[in-house]
Amino acid sequence: MSAVSPSPLRVLKFGGSSVGSPERLARAIGIAESELSKGPIAVVVSAMGDSTDWLIEAAELAASGDRAAADRMASRVADLARANARGVASIFGESVEGETLAAKVNQLVEPLRRLLEGMSWVREQTPQMLDAVMSFGEHLSATVVAGLMRAKGLSASFVDARDWCVTDASFGAAIVDTERTRDAAQAAFEGDPATVRVTTGFLGRTPDGRTTTLGRNGSDYTAALLARSLDASEVQIWTDVSGVMSADPGLVDDAKPLARLSYAEALELANFGARMFHPRTMIPLIEGDIPLRIRNTQEPSAPGTRVDKDGAGDEGRATSVTSLENLALVEVGYRRISMRGSLSGRVLTAVDRAQVTVWMATHSAHGQGVVMVIPDAQLDKALVAIEAELAIEVARGEVDAPRVRRPMTLLTLVAEAMGQTPDVAGRFFHALGSQGINVFASGQGASSRSVSCAIDARETSLAVRTVHTSFHFAHQRVSLFILGRGTVGGELLRQIRAEAERLDRDHEIALRVVGLSDSRHVLFEPQGIDLNGFEERLAASPALDEDQARKARIDVMNELRTLAVPVLVDLTAASGMHELYEEAFSRGIHVVAANKKPLSEDLAIHAELMASARTHHRSFAYETTVGASLPVIETLKDLVRTGDRVKRIEGSFSGTLGYLTHELMQGSLLSRAVQRARDLGYSEPQPQDDLSGLDVARKALILARELGLRLAPSDVRIEPLVPAELLAIRDVDPFLAALTERDAEMAERIARAKSEGQALRYLARIDPSEPRIEVGPVLVPLDHPAATLRGAEAFVAFTTDRYSEYPLIVRGAGAGGAVTAAGVLADILKVAQRARGA
Ligand code: ASP
Ligand code: MG
Repeated sequence: MSAVSPSPLRVLKFGGSSVGSPERLARAIGIAESELSKGPIAVVVSAMGDSTDWLIEAAELAASGDRAAADRMASRVADLARANARGVASIFGESVEGETLAAKVNQLVEPLRRLLEGMSWVREQTPQMLDAVMSFGEHLSATVVAGLMRAKGLSASFVDARDWCVTDASFGAAIVDTERTRDAAQAAFEGDPATVRVTTGFLGRTPDGRTTTLGRNGSDYTAALLARSLDASEVQIWTDVSGVMSADPGLVDDAKPLARLSYAEALELANFGARMFHPRTMIPLIEGDIPLRIRNTQEPSAPGTRVDKDGAGDEGRATSVTSLENLALVEVGYRRISMRGSLSGRVLTAVDRAQVTVWMATHSAHGQGVVMVIPDAQLDKALVAIEAELAIEVARGEVDAPRVRRPMTLLTLVAEAMGQTPDVAGRFFHALGSQGINVFASGQGASSRSVSCAIDARETSLAVRTVHTSFHFAHQRVSLFILGRGTVGGELLRQIRAEAERLDRDHEIALRVVGLSDSRHVLFEPQGIDLNGFEERLAASPALDEDQARKARIDVMNELRTLAVPVLVDLTAASGMHELYEEAFSRGIHVVAANKKPLSEDLAIHAELMASARTHHRSFAYETTVGASLPVIETLKDLVRTGDRVKRIEGSFSGTLGYLTHELMQGSLLSRAVQRARDLGYSEPQPQDDLSGLDVARKALILARELGLRLAPSDVRIEPLVPAELLAIRDVDPFLAALTERDAEMAERIARAKSEGQALRYLARIDPSEPRIEVGPVLVPLDHPAATLRGAEAFVAFTTDRYSEYPLIVRGAGAGGAVTAAGVLADILKVAQRARGA
């Protein structure tokens, strides 16, 4: 027979929330039972729920002399423990056991009440007293958990960590004597491996018998110490999240649990505010090479995060982005170079002496100045210390009073071997810069595993999301608020529905329509509107008047700003939308517009919109305002950007008028051709707007302004295709009827052109040298590019310094719902790409 070596011990730690309610606690005990079936375990527990916070409050109340209130706090702690004991026992069908435990709780809490009473007499609270008060949380918890395990039929016993965790007397954050702790733990946990020892986290004792604690969230550290002392094979931390997340899920909704992490990364995360770990937890684990697993009590089958020596083994990959909030930035600098040594050294020493936590400090050359990031709550203390240190310099006017910025957030990206992969820090700052997020101070962790920077607290969620997206490329979410539900709107939604899966799969872009609005309705569903049957839901939503609808849209934008890559998409043809665009930009929302009006009306509005998009670092895309999805604006931008000089722009900008003139040349009657253009969705809802040339004038104006020409609508010379008096008829049907009276006259004009070997076209011409814009019907020779246009084709010819002999021509379908919607979608995707910051 071969000797079977006993399977090694595993240490399970249950956090406060995992033992905070009867349901969770029952689940935790179930988990322990099932782990026990795989081999011996020891269990470490935290105080139940928020008990530690309540105990701290109790101590404060007692020290302030309010004995009754302190006692009520103690009762609150005891009530929770009793309720959990009774609740779980009854889930197990062992109510008698529950009563026994409840009585035990009453008995255990008695000394706490006396201690608080004593503190209220002397009105004093020392760190030592506070540790004694806090110890009751873990003591009650471990006692109840062990009792409930027995009620479930397990062999379990309570072990007071004070009997094995030996510390010095630094109350509040005691230092553990690992040698003595190891010996004591081995003695305390000796015995039958089938018995579960349930011990208190967080607590220790000095050699002379005084209670200490290891610092807030210290139970993880207890579990690591115990594992190291007993040569355990693994530590499991059972909590209420599925592991270490790639970012705070409260800020980034597609944050995900990380499968693996190295000790060093975990340490870095703990240092920069991920509340997941007590910073010292890693030390015993590293020394003993013991893996740590973080698991979710609510979802025990999920793998959670494994922390060990190797981590994910992917050096270039960033791990997680953390944000530490409620900070202040303090800046001190010499006004003149001083002879009295390093200012930064003196300042940092002074604040350190005042026990201010410095999260980050950077100093200028030769210690002439220092910028540091400290907790906002410690600002006053820090300023007092700095002023005392620099009293002489300030009096002599050698240094300015410290400059303070608050509230600030410290943003940190943790990545293994960051020092070896140069693009990590670069990408971090680039991503922030692309969103216009200002970095006030920055630093790289001494371990070269992290890069941090201080930002304005108001930008915390945007910054965390931006950095997260640029390092975890998966599934960038884009949140769309779509205005207008005409032909283009319907088509866009159809395309989004059809392309969503492919975009998600091939380009990792998840488009989500969160808001929809027509002139009378506003629908907003932050989780994403189900595009099947949205029409009915939009129509069924309450009908609003103009004012209410405007307010409702602003309300939507106030919510939209918090979602991933928010984009306002204007598919209306309404005037006055620039106000909404401004509201969008100022809220950090991008704008994609197919609406020509905002850009082609008042010159001042145009300038304001461009400036606003720029100052808020938002994208403003409006390619479809000219020639639907044809790359007209993009082409012009590239010409201008690359320093070419545009000498002339000529084109048939209107798919509708192109179609009409083509039909006329083919022999169609004017009225019939207009009717058909309308039926095909080529024309504006009011065909008069096309025939007047106003729509072409708007497009020409948009292009001219893109060239930097400061032209107003009145600067455009327009000749309509049909006489102006006809256009005065605003109702569509009478207008179409009146058109028939002009059919003959038009037919004659066409016949004449044909006989002269010419074609009738409706063109716009921009001449930057004057500057001048002319829009109107023109006869062109049959070999002119405009003469060969068919259907709703549009063309634009750019004659420039580089393209002087033969112009650069953009040509293709320039009207229609499908192509316009495709152009809008392309704009949306470009915005998304830019927002990625990579
Ligand atoms: N109960 C202690 C705290 O709340 C220790 C812990 O939960 O880890 O800080
Ligand atoms: Mg276009």
